Amino acid sequence: MLAQSLRRVLNTHLRFQTLNKRMSSTYANFDLVKRVKLGFTDVEVSKWRSRITGLSVVHLDYEAPIVNGYFAVGTEIFNDSGCPHTLEHLVFMGSKKYPFKGIIDQLANRGFSNGTNAWTDIDNTVYTVSTAGGQGFLQILPIYVDHILNPTLTNAGFVTEVHHIDPKGHDSGVVYSEMQGRQNTSGDLMALRLQRLINPEGSAYRSETGGLMEALRELTIDKIRRYHATYYVPHNVSLIVAGKLSDGTNGLLSVIQNQIEPTLIAQGYNEGPHPKGWKRPFLETSSAQRGPIRETITSTVEFPEKDESMGELVIGFIGPPPDEYLEREALDILGTYLTSSPVAPLNKQFIEIEHPLCTYFYFGEDTRATFVDLPVYVGSVPTGELDKLPNLLKECLGRIVTEGIDMTRMSMVIRRNRRQLWSKLESSKGDTFSGTIITDFLLGPQDGSGLLPAMNEMAYYDTLEKWTSDQWTSLLKRYYVDPPAVIVKGIPSASLADKLEKDEKERIASQVAKLGPEGLARAAEVLEKSKAEHDRPIPIEILKSFPVPDVKSIAWIPVQSHQEGNSRSIPAGRTTDSSELMKYIRTDGSPLPFFVEFDHVKSDFVTSHVFLSLATLPNRLRPLISAYSASFFSLPVQRESGHRLSHEEVVNALDNETVSYDTGLGVNSYFADMFRVSIKVEVEQYQSAVQWLKDLIYGAEFDKERIQVTLAKLQQAIPEMKRDGHTVMSAVWTELLFDERSTSRANGVTSQMDVIPKLIKQLQESPDSLLKDFEEIRKHITDPSGVRFAVSGEVLSLEKPRSIWHDCFRNVLPEANLQPVPLASRTLSTVGKKPSKKAIVVSLPTIESTFAMHTTKGIEGFNEPRYPAQRVALEILNATESFLWRYIRGSGLAYGASVSLDNESGLLSFSLYRSSNYMGAFRQGALVLKGLVDGSIPLEDTALDAAKSSIVYAVTNGVASPGRAALASFTNQALKGVSQYHNVDLLEKYEQVTKEDILTTLRDDFLPLFNPDTSVATVVTAPSQADGISQQLAGLGFEVGRRTLEASAEELAAGEVDSGSDGETESDTEGEDRR
Ligand SMILES: [Zn+2]
Repeated sequence: MLAQSLRRVLNTHLRFQTLNKRMSSTYANFDLVKRVKLGFTDVEVSKWRSRITGLSVVHLDYEAPIVNGYFAVGTEIFNDSGCPHTLEHLVFMGSKKYPFKGIIDQLANRGFSNGTNAWTDIDNTVYTVSTAGGQGFLQILPIYVDHILNPTLTNAGFVTEVHHIDPKGHDSGVVYSEMQGRQNTSGDLMALRLQRLINPEGSAYRSETGGLMEALRELTIDKIRRYHATYYVPHNVSLIVAGKLSDGTNGLLSVIQNQIEPTLIAQGYNEGPHPKGWKRPFLETSSAQRGPIRETITSTVEFPEKDESMGELVIGFIGPPPDEYLEREALDILGTYLTSSPVAPLNKQFIEIEHPLCTYFYFGEDTRATFVDLPVYVGSVPTGELDKLPNLLKECLGRIVTEGIDMTRMSMVIRRNRRQLWSKLESSKGDTFSGTIITDFLLGPQDGSGLLPAMNEMAYYDTLEKWTSDQWTSLLKRYYVDPPAVIVKGIPSASLADKLEKDEKERIASQVAKLGPEGLARAAEVLEKSKAEHDRPIPIEILKSFPVPDVKSIAWIPVQSHQEGNSRSIPAGRTTDSSELMKYIRTDGSPLPFFVEFDHVKSDFVTSHVFLSLATLPNRLRPLISAYSASFFSLPVQRESGHRLSHEEVVNALDNETVSYDTGLGVNSYFADMFRVSIKVEVEQYQSAVQWLKDLIYGAEFDKERIQVTLAKLQQAIPEMKRDGHTVMSAVWTELLFDERSTSRANGVTSQMDVIPKLIKQLQESPDSLLKDFEEIRKHITDPSGVRFAVSGEVLSLEKPRSIWHDCFRNVLPEANLQPVPLASRTLSTVGKKPSKKAIVVSLPTIESTFAMHTTKGIEGFNEPRYPAQRVALEILNATESFLWRYIRGSGLAYGASVSLDNESGLLSFSLYRSSNYMGAFRQGALVLKGLVDGSIPLEDTALDAAKSSIVYAVTNGVASPGRAALASFTNQALKGVSQYHNVDLLEKYEQVTKEDILTTLRDDFLPLFNPDTSVATVVTAPSQADGISQQLAGLGFEVGRRTLEASAEELAAGEVDSGSDGETESDTEGEDRR
């Protein structure tokens, strides 16, 4: 107690000092534009601008182990050339002062970061970096800004990073591959159509800022250079920094003043924030002309898809001006009111019915100059219903306007939004506001007067809580019922899929013919020369001049931990003194006979989790877990108190009492053979949360109608899922490597597209048998030998931390011998136990690139002595701008390439994401590994240092919020069986890993990934490429099986295709080769 109050006094004192220090409103070239202190959080925001160069700086100051940077540029473009997006990529290719590709990431990694990143939106490009602690951040800042404002923009960079023609005559390049993977997806096609219809000619809001493929093929580096010269100027850049720096805001400004400003001034930027002739993008240009929509327009977009059963819909409305914050907040809440749960008005009418008209509504908001956009997205609409739906929606909204708002539910929605904002503020602090600050820079008033109104969300909740039903309905009427809208219907088209494939083949053939052998040779030469230019090694001295920060400078969040019940196990290792927690819990009732772990962190919230083992679940019931999970929170419940609640009452009560609730398989992609339920509440609601856990698990009634609704929704979502290359690849991979005991495998999209129609049929024909199956699931997962509870959060303020568990569960959970945590390694298939030779090639008409995964045996277990070396090796290969990146992404062969270790299953994998040239990328991967092992590609000490530093970031980030720190403590001790701070303990072990260790593991463990004798491959690709890939894989020595996912849901329901549950490569092929 004494210690605590003393600390408080010291804190007050310090705060007083900082306030004094901050009284000044200038710092060298920088003038304070605005300082904002919000009443509801301790985040302090100050916005500064250089009166010389016009550069803006915003610091969001608060305590947190991670520092985040967002460096924003306003980017306006009036065509589809993709200048903003291609430029975003080229910034990372080197700067005038640091003319080496990838140096920025190697330096960032050394500074406790996981590398840099960036995004390009319709009106801005934002460059990001996050570091553990502030030292690395301030070191990297001036180098990063030099890259943004003075990139090299070489021709060689354009060739590999943007677009080139490969030696076979195919178009390639990192950006090109990326757009190839996106451009013809329903989402992109529909978004572009909507933009074109909502914004008038001459508006930059019409443009595809990513660059259309046809435009990228014509783009030149000169155009990009001119674009850079116009928009990448200091008066159009804002450096936004969120987090704690050792010398506060002044430390930040001093780095910018001394290391950034002089270069800019020397370049002639000295005309202040608004030089003569400068037009603020979107505000002072023709893009600001945005009208209301004059009349309703309906437009149809076809997208390539063999399964024509489900379409999509987006309806565009125009909202209020961007600075009408109260009204924007009200519209956000209205969207939540209309759609947030099974009892929301739109869900009740359109989704929670026997034949759903869609699977979701999403009321979005896009910030734009003059007026914001209000798009409404409607997912998975049966193709036959697409025409009707917009009118039905309008009628439904009109009825709500006439009948009025359910004010009880509305006030619940507002209070819940408020709780969720609190919770978000606690877990990500000032980062919660990064989007708002970026928008303020792009569209807000220059004098900073927009900052406070933009961030003052809690004040708007206060006002909106007093709104009447009439105020809400008039808002709904004004924005969604009365005005005309732009309706874009997305219709799946099998013939378009064929046409695209045919056209692309013809285009490539004519391109090859036109180039001729000489043209192709010349293209190959250009590519080789460009690559050679990038391969120029970064001088080691530059890297070494960048000091690696001290791990001790990072402040970890302490977690007090205590376990109850049998099978307690606290493995040795670093711990926090938990005697306070233990004492506190022991004052509350008697010890518990079942397993509960309490993890205390300072917080306003507490989350109760249960992990239920699925180990003994009969395999035939495993595929039902998706449906069980999806219906979990929306079934009628018989409460222990004797009350029976309808499903609507359950949903309303949960929404009323909690911050959030969810179910899932395991945690953080581990332990998928446990069914998890989590309920997060404010501290006062803790007992209610525990009671809910009990009642939801034991008291739910498997109601036929509710199950029917759940199954119909799942069924309808499948076509959208199987359009996605990555989702399909994961499912096929799981089928190959795991057997029928694996819950993940049974619930992947390829299994579900088969199972769900059968369940629907079963429910119609013999409903009792299916409802009995659900009862049986409950019986198995509640077996006392497989139940583990976790309480994470503010345990020390709970009134009945322990006895509430006794009160709720004593009758259902007798003392039992807790069985070990079920690990995925138990469920490996024959192939999974010894991966060899097998390759599955799936052709998927909705994609134009390739997703692939090659898998071999890896180390298994959470405390394996070989793990530290492998972990560092993974980081060395994967780091941004490290080996795989340089050799594969850098050569334009794929958008992403990485290696990953699943140490629960004991599988090591090499994955390619959105690859435009899969075989080339695979060969390149093999080449890098072999080169490193035989020494022809040198492994520098600096790469080792960078990898180890980068892991520091990953570890810090994993425990950076109170919630994450508490959950990690539980996962480590109760599930992985390792020490409380295992991840932090490992940092010392990584430190000791030598170059020799790395080369050994690369040779022994990673090289087998590229040998067909010791690996298996799963490939999902465009139909046009499936034949070629299959032949090449066979040529390498793989036994290739072919698959398609073409069968429609109806065919499956009719039972024409057999279940895939009993054969790893069982498939609905159409007479294709299966070698
Ligand atoms: Zn990109």
